[in-house]
Amino acid sequence: MPENSHSAGVVTHVPYFHHMENVMTKRCVACGKKFEPRPQARNQTYCSAHECQRERRRAWQKKERRTDAMYRKDDADYNKQWAKNNPGYWEKYRAENPEYTERNRKKQHVRNLKHRYGRNLHSKTTGSAPPLPSGRYWLTTIGPDGIAKGDASIVEITFISGTTEGTIPGG
Ligand SMILES: [Zn+2]
Repeated sequence: MPENSHSAGVVTHVPYFHHMENVMTKRCVACGKKFEPRPQARNQTYCSAHECQRERRRAWQKKERRTDAMYRKDDADYNKQWAKNNPGYWEKYRAENPEYTERNRKKQHVRNLKHRYGRNLHSKTTGSAPPLPSGRYWLTTIGPDGIAKGDASIVEITFISGTTEGTIPGG
């Protein structure tokens, strides 16, 4: 305690004095220099230097990725173990839920196509019809008998990535 805290009656500066005394200095784990953690981040381990903050983010990302990988592995292990403990479950489930099987078969088909064509050709895998390449086309109406009716028109079709719909310019 400072001596004057009793005698002079000037006590207002005392808490400030205490505060200054109690500030904890830490050593930055990146650069090794001493720094004062911000009051709202007492367990700060990196100083505020730009480089050290970048290092902190890098370390955090690394840790996140490690944790992620760990969880993924745990998940895979769990599922494997579960399947082992419940033999025949999926076969039974698939037999009882044909629509699930069908959905999965379609999803697998899409995955195969994506694998074959690459992710940029997303559109190839979505709609039911394959996309038309951009360009000009003769367009005719075909009747139920399979015979073209009336005149043919020239249309211009622009293929827009990500959809399977042709669009008429200006339309
Ligand atoms: Zn530092």
